[in-house]
Amino acid sequence: MRLAKRLDLLPPYLFVEISRKIAEKRAQGERVVSFAIGDPDIPTPQHIIDRLCQAAQVPTNHRYPETDGLPQLRQAIARWYEGRFGVTLDPDKEVMPLIGSKEGIAHAALCFIDAGDVALVPDPSYPPFRMGTLLAGGQPHYMPLTEENSVLPDLDAVPPPVLQRAKMLWINYPNNPTAAVAGMDFFEKAVSFAKKHDLVLCHDAPYTEVAFDNYRPVSLLQAPGAMDVGIEFHSWSKSYNMTGWRIGMLVGNADAVHAMMQVKSNIDSGIPQAVQEMAIAALEGPQECIAEHNAVYQRRRDRLIEVLNQAGFKAQPPKASLYIWTRVPAGYTSVSLATEMLEKLAVVVTPGVGYGDAGEGYIRLSLTLSDDDLEEGLKRLSGWRPSL
Ligand SMILES: *Cc1c(COP(=O)(O)O)cnc(C)c1O
Repeated sequence: MRLAKRLDLLPPYLFVEISRKIAEKRAQGERVVSFAIGDPDIPTPQHIIDRLCQAAQVPTNHRYPETDGLPQLRQAIARWYEGRFGVTLDPDKEVMPLIGSKEGIAHAALCFIDAGDVALVPDPSYPPFRMGTLLAGGQPHYMPLTEENSVLPDLDAVPPPVLQRAKMLWINYPNNPTAAVAGMDFFEKAVSFAKKHDLVLCHDAPYTEVAFDNYRPVSLLQAPGAMDVGIEFHSWSKSYNMTGWRIGMLVGNADAVHAMMQVKSNIDSGIPQAVQEMAIAALEGPQECIAEHNAVYQRRRDRLIEVLNQAGFKAQPPKASLYIWTRVPAGYTSVSLATEMLEKLAVVVTPGVGYGDAGEGYIRLSLTLSDDDLEEGLKRLSGWRPSL
């Protein structure tokens, strides 16, 4: 058989060698502690599971869902955005449930990108921004996120010939992998830039509820004029520990939501309705679980920062997200450090270069491992010192 050329566009999987070593160690019975995966270890709250169990008994939920979801779910999303951010959404025109936000993020390029079009993508960033662009036949243009620029893309540095071909602008705050946050002033700037250059402004925002020290992240859609050019991807995955159930949302500009409906109605048949009912229960049920989970992450964050800094890192406690993003000590690359930690400590960290060239020189550690694994990981890390 002959595979499509587009598959050649996808960069080779960078962590092949690391994944092979992890599998090898585990096969030998060694305990490998992983700080690599951003996937909440705490179970989905019980009241949400209870709703699934009830919904599973209802025969109408055994049949095909609609692509645009249950009207009650779209209404619940609109009410949640109003309550949480003061953003008013038309549930029938400005809201679309997704099969996890990753699905919508990857498919968004099909709504905007033709062959040769450009999407402006932060570097480092969540891989589906660039992969969706490549699969649609477009070209990512990378905007480096640097500490000098407060980990915000320098929009004015995008060269005019690139801007002429650009159709999409991706941003993501609180950010994965850097854990950086952005304020309303940046969102306002991004909105006026997108308007000036006729771009759709796509904000990936799954971490607005995962925040510490009383910090409250904002929504892009709170920025004046954002609804004219902006869409926001949100998710139950990180807020309610629901990564396994696959449900997310797209909200914002009605034309963009309509385009996504056109694409998706030809690709999928929606989200299982019992899972949509879980999502309603999550948004409308008790919210204490969010503060409880954040307290757990905050405690883990502080423990990990302390141990990393004793080992010679200069890690800063993040205000939000599930990650610590920190520079590697002098003499290491992100991959050489990750490899050494795996070989010597059986501890897995993610090399920053996996998120883009500008991620070189950093590693990412996730806070979503069990407390038991965390303690073991801290014990191993606390005995480590740079050997170069
Ligand atoms: C976890 C995450 C998502 C959410 O993915 P789902 O498909 O909704 O589970 C989206 N964007 C980023 C940057 C993430 O880290």
